[in-house]
Amino acid sequence: MIALSIPTPFMVGRVNCYLIEDDPLTLVDTGPNSGKALDELERALAEHSHRIEDLERIVITHQHIDHLGLVDIIARRSGAEVCALDLLVPLIEDFAAEAERNDELAEALMLRHGIPRDVVTALRSVSRSFRAWGGSTKVTRPLADGSDLGFAERTLEVLHRPGHSPSDTLFHDRERGELIGGDHLIGHISSNPLISRPLGGKSGEPGGGRPRALVTYMRSMRETREMDLSVILPGHGEPVTDHVKLIDERFALHERRANKIAGLIEEQPRSAYEIAQSLWGNVAVTQAYLTLCEVLGHVDLLLEDGRAVEEDGPGGTVRFAAA
Ligand SMILES: [Zn+2]
Repeated sequence: MIALSIPTPFMVGRVNCYLIEDDPLTLVDTGPNSGKALDELERALAEHSHRIEDLERIVITHQHIDHLGLVDIIARRSGAEVCALDLLVPLIEDFAAEAERNDELAEALMLRHGIPRDVVTALRSVSRSFRAWGGSTKVTRPLADGSDLGFAERTLEVLHRPGHSPSDTLFHDRERGELIGGDHLIGHISSNPLISRPLGGKSGEPGGGRPRALVTYMRSMRETREMDLSVILPGHGEPVTDHVKLIDERFALHERRANKIAGLIEEQPRSAYEIAQSLWGNVAVTQAYLTLCEVLGHVDLLLEDGRAVEEDGPGGTVRFAAA
């Protein structure tokens, strides 16, 4: 598989798309919807003697715009089939509406956890302006978790491993020990456990609470840890050749953060926003939701272990206290 490094306007930097020179000729992920990304994709394909028009299959790893923004443009120009996890289909087919509903969830969560309204309002407009880098298209081939996607020379097993996003999908070439990982595991950064609307019309966690993205993500990483792999081809950065070591580092990192937060709420009950401020000071507006998701993810680990309790604080803001 050939990595094509495509620019994005986001903090994460470039995104890796993968070209599979097999029958059908396949592109995994597309890059964001921008002229610059499209130019560079065309140039990268040309280096391997292909054009956009030659592509026969597009595969999407998850719902984020840096991975799928160009999907409609490429599908139209090439006539390629579009493959994605079945649960992800409604989202790809109506990206803007889904993004709006996701922003509503984010806004409610931010207000409930103490983020000031002016920050929430500013972030909402930033998010709206980002949406232009997304895109919608018709998914012609929905993929079931656990199913096989066949090529002339290889078979990729489809694995749903949510956590970074609810739709994270891995593609496993068992014969070669290769795993196309999307943002499930990235070598140089710990993937954010972003809280998003649950897929498939499910109401979320049992009891109707917020989606517990980090708890879900840890479960997914434990499954991946058991796999026999020679390499993970990630959505950003360099290939990961020792996934067990990397996953163990991630587990240790999350444990350290959870312990740090446990210490903070032992001193006094705090809202998630107050915890974020204690950890990182005043965070930039654009980072407000990411840091909230980080804090809530780790608080969820403490809640699950019975080390924290959730209580109503002043003004309807949720506070966390030591159990
Ligand atoms: Zn992502």
